[in-house]
Amino acid sequence: MERSSICYSYPAMPRTLDPEFRQALAARIRFYNEMGIYDFYRRPSAEDVAPDEIGTAVATNHTQSGEEMSPRRSAAVATPVLAEDNIFEVIAPKPEQSVSDPVKALKIIREDLGDCTRCVLHKQGRKQIVFGVGNPKADLMFVGEGPGADEDTQGEPFVGRAGQLLNNMIKAMGLEREQVYIANIVKCRPPGNRTPEREECETCSPFLMRQIAVVKPKVIVALGAVAAKTLLAMNASMMQLRGRFYEFRPAGARSNDPNWDGCKLAVTYHPAFLLRDPRQKGEAWKDLQMVMTELGLKTPKANA
Ligand code: SF4
Repeated sequence: MERSSICYSYPAMPRTLDPEFRQALAARIRFYNEMGIYDFYRRPSAEDVAPDEIGTAVATNHTQSGEEMSPRRSAAVATPVLAEDNIFEVIAPKPEQSVSDPVKALKIIREDLGDCTRCVLHKQGRKQIVFGVGNPKADLMFVGEGPGADEDTQGEPFVGRAGQLLNNMIKAMGLEREQVYIANIVKCRPPGNRTPEREECETCSPFLMRQIAVVKPKVIVALGAVAAKTLLAMNASMMQLRGRFYEFRPAGARSNDPNWDGCKLAVTYHPAFLLRDPRQKGEAWKDLQMVMTELGLKTPKANA
């Protein structure tokens, strides 16, 4: 299996910070905490990378560019800052991390989200926030792009025609909708069902990452390019993204969490796309069969 991240080791931060800088940094971290963001990451600068590591990084990036996968701002893979300086004492653990019941933990995340106004989608005609639905201990999680009109009205992801097709896909896998967890990258309906902007995805997806860290699925299926690119933090075509598993760990999950070993992520077509181009259903079924094999499920039907 190929990994989708490059790991660097960072030099320790200076142990003495200018008091003014320290105060400003603490205020900024508190601001992010209030927005529901609790983990912080630092990208390596060229100086951070030892000369022999540069060669490795270049070689790896060359392989990626050969596959037309350009790294972008990462939501899923990042290396945490070394918290050598106690400035990071102000970083509170995520509130749901102290709760073992996933139902309660998801409720805490929903309360943290509140009547969210963090991105422009809050003022572009949404009726309600569509948080997510399903088994809070699901082995399988589906992640779509964003709510449509039906979802916006009912407050539940995938309830329209595309939702019916997703239900059929889940049934074809030998499962019921109630056994899986379903969510979207953005939780508010983009006007006219337009594709969510990258900034909207990056603002909203930390909450999805926290949901994933609570549910701890064995496999995530990203439905469509927006979900895949946001979760994997890479830019590639559906043809390039499908047909393989990726190792996945949301940024909100701590690397030393003994209850969370990460999970696998597969990419398939969005059901709305399959409604427009039913000829691709066979390809989607291949993706789902790959997932079924990973989950140890038998294949009861040949068609979704
Ligand atoms: S899409 Fe997400 S971040 Fe934007 S307003 Fe809705 S809940 Fe908040």
